[in-house]
Amino acid sequence: MKIDLHVHLDGSLRPSTVWELAKEQGIRLPVSSKEELSCCLRVPEDCNNLTEYLKCFDLPLLVLQRREAIERVVFELCEDLAGQGLTYAEIRFAPQLSLEGGMNMDEVVEAAIDGMNRGLTEYPSLHAGLLLCFMRGKENDLLNDRTLETAKKYFGKGVVGVDLAGAEALFPTENYRELFRRVREAGIKYTIHAGEAAGPESVRCALDFGAKRLGHGVRAVEDKELVERLVQEKITLEVCPTSNLHTKLAKDPYSHPIRTLFDQGVRVTVNTDNMTVSDTTLEKEYNFLKQYYNFTDSEIAKIQEYAREAAFFEG
Ligand SMILES: [Zn+2]
Repeated sequence: MKIDLHVHLDGSLRPSTVWELAKEQGIRLPVSSKEELSCCLRVPEDCNNLTEYLKCFDLPLLVLQRREAIERVVFELCEDLAGQGLTYAEIRFAPQLSLEGGMNMDEVVEAAIDGMNRGLTEYPSLHAGLLLCFMRGKENDLLNDRTLETAKKYFGKGVVGVDLAGAEALFPTENYRELFRRVREAGIKYTIHAGEAAGPESVRCALDFGAKRLGHGVRAVEDKELVERLVQEKITLEVCPTSNLHTKLAKDPYSHPIRTLFDQGVRVTVNTDNMTVSDTTLEKEYNFLKQYYNFTDSEIAKIQEYAREAAFFEG
């Protein structure tokens, strides 16, 4: 059983595909070779925070404005995940970031569903679902409303839930209270990026919204009572260790809170976040846990069990 609950489509594109799509679509890239492009798609060594990390997504998004491109990259991601031995993945992306080429949100999501279905047919050992991301930002309210409408339409038909992504330090979780009230009302499952670039108050807020799963959530460790609440309410954290190093949530491999949270009984899971941007795989993340935090095979199995129990997919 190998499960990734937190992998972003646009952060996990094959560099060779970005190159080909750019060529096909006549998009000029700021590099002259495929090798250079691989470097460009990876987070730079000197990345200081989440806001800078998110800049790595500008280039992938340029090539994700057409139907065939979306279908292709979702298929390829399924192929890559199946190739790495995954049995289940929730692939997330923000359909509102693919509207520049004239598609509407339904078309973006349908293209993604088609790509996923093709992947799952070809690789039957893999199961998967899509999470549609709302985006934090002043100008995103209307687009977030439309994302919710699209999620309602495709929920249970490839879409398994929604998420809130984007610059958490700049746009507080609190701003999305009304949006998540409507998500709850619609009966759609949801996770929220919280406790990554912002602290315990963001996590508390997401819990108040009724979230049972949190993207990252690791900064809850700064507040003892909040950690107890996570345990009591059986909240699952979608932890992405390598990504946390890149956004400087953890300043070095030895100062990541995953061991502390796990030992305190929090349901932590391990995920990749962005396979290309963070140059990682689920296997590398497990190895990180073993290498720096002495996780045993049975502890890793426990983490996988937490992931299975938190999966949104049904049937
Ligand atoms: Zn994420």
